[in-house]
Amino acid sequence: MSVITIERRVLEKNDELAQLNRRNLGLAGVHCLNLLSSPGAGKTALLEASLSRLGDSLRLAVIEGDVQTDLDAQRVARYGVPVVQLVTNGACHLEARLVGDALREIDLRSIDLLVIENVGNLVCPAGFDLGENEKVVVASVTEGDDKPLKYPAMFRNASALVINKIDLLPYVPCDLGTLRANALAVNPGLEVFELSSLTGVGLDAWCAWLLRHGGK
Ligand code: MG
Ligand code: ZN
Repeated sequence: MSVITIERRVLEKNDELAQLNRRNLGLAGVHCLNLLSSPGAGKTALLEASLSRLGDSLRLAVIEGDVQTDLDAQRVARYGVPVVQLVTNGACHLEARLVGDALREIDLRSIDLLVIENVGNLVCPAGFDLGENEKVVVASVTEGDDKPLKYPAMFRNASALVINKIDLLPYVPCDLGTLRANALAVNPGLEVFELSSLTGVGLDAWCAWLLRHGGK
């Protein structure tokens, strides 16, 4: 019982700090996305492809969450956008307190859209509000088509689903229609994008969505 109590108090504290982040972002006119997926689904590659395509049309900043290393922040920084790396030192999800620390490193008045790339994990990031406006889930076809049914919490609270690596469909046992139907069964409101960050197919619709959510 005491474990449950502690856990609830941790989550209550997190929710308070998330509301503070949300208020600070709102005051600065920044729209914030929490990008979620399993490890290796291609969140960073999607960011790179999006930044390359968007150019100067959107003022974007990125917070990178990883268990170790600043490798992803280095990749994103090449596109000339403000980026802060959060290293969790073993923790498997980001918390609002860490994101609040990162927000102090970013000139929020100078950006329209903030993307928080969460730690790759389909389980607990779903339970931690960071102060984002919307969650976006990335699922790659290499993970198979059953993940929305096995990890429904991640898909239930998201606004959009990016199905990545569709260039690999001929080589992997994943049915795109089944994956889409499973995701929509969990969350009928999902906006679904099917794309390949590698080849660029499908990126236009996704970038148009980003522009719209950045107020452009
Ligand atoms: Mg990454
Ligand atoms: Zn965790």
